[in-house]
Amino acid sequence: MTGKVYLVGAGPGDPELLTLKALRLLRSAEAVLHDDLVAPEILALIPPTAQIFNVGKRCGKKKVQQPEIDCLMVALAASGLRVVRLKGGDPLIFGRAGEEIEALRANNIPFEIVPGVTSAMGAAAAAQIPLTHRRASSAVVFITAHLASGQRASERPTSQRPSTKDARESDASDWNKFVGSGATLVIYMPGQNYTDTARRLTAAGLPAHTPCAIVSRATTKDQRTHLTTVRDLHRAPQIPSPTLLIVGEVVNLADPAKVAKDFAIPDLLPRSESPLPAALFTTIPLAESAFGSR
Ligand code: SAH
Repeated sequence: MTGKVYLVGAGPGDPELLTLKALRLLRSAEAVLHDDLVAPEILALIPPTAQIFNVGKRCGKKKVQQPEIDCLMVALAASGLRVVRLKGGDPLIFGRAGEEIEALRANNIPFEIVPGVTSAMGAAAAAQIPLTHRRASSAVVFITAHLASGQRASERPTSQRPSTKDARESDASDWNKFVGSGATLVIYMPGQNYTDTARRLTAAGLPAHTPCAIVSRATTKDQRTHLTTVRDLHRAPQIPSPTLLIVGEVVNLADPAKVAKDFAIPDLLPRSESPLPAALFTTIPLAESAFGSR
């Protein structure tokens, strides 16, 4: 009897951000194929009886190719196993789930997709950045700096630039239309070449003073956030990967020191007392200080 594949999102790092469904499936998995970005605490939830395959890009010396992952996943399920394909964040966001879905369909393998918290959400929450704000940004765009080949379109020789046939690929690096929209940009896989990123953002029309946040290892104990602007992005320190770059006026709300100062509550109450009522916060004009009056 054919088994089943579950394409499961592991979230951005913090194991507590796993969904209950992901937890249940992991605990009952017979085979797990996971990416590098999945936290060790999450891998520890897999039963010792399950076969575990690290199919991450940096697995061993040889990079595991996508068709090899597809074949392994299909073969395990065809042999009757309950297979969890575990991906960092959400499986449908820059997770190559599209290729895996095609392979599963082509081989008549039943499958189900279990969403996870994508790293943009994890990073935004961890850095206290509202990705939309009714006075600053009414849209958010998830983009990546890299194409399928791992190469930026702007780095390709002119003769190899995408033609009409490759229009979808070129969309991945064409930031102009997003920048013009005023949406908050969340750039996945930003790489370490911030000079190039800043140049592309500026070329796309973004003002130099636009705030940016680089969030490293969001939701893990090693999380770090660096706040800067498009103008100064090239001077940003090289903080450990994985990182996400959030660009837009909403980043003005990220300063943890400012948040701590604005929201500090005097330690007057004994610990046993109830927390202060939420209504108290309505008098604090945080939004006005960031984006002008209501
Ligand atoms: N499916 C994943 C994205 C995979 S692409 C998701 O939904 O999040 C891999 C990229 O995701 C990394 O290069 C990085 O840009 C981002 N990323 C993943 N985990 C991250 C984390 N904990 N902190 C910051 N960025 C992260």
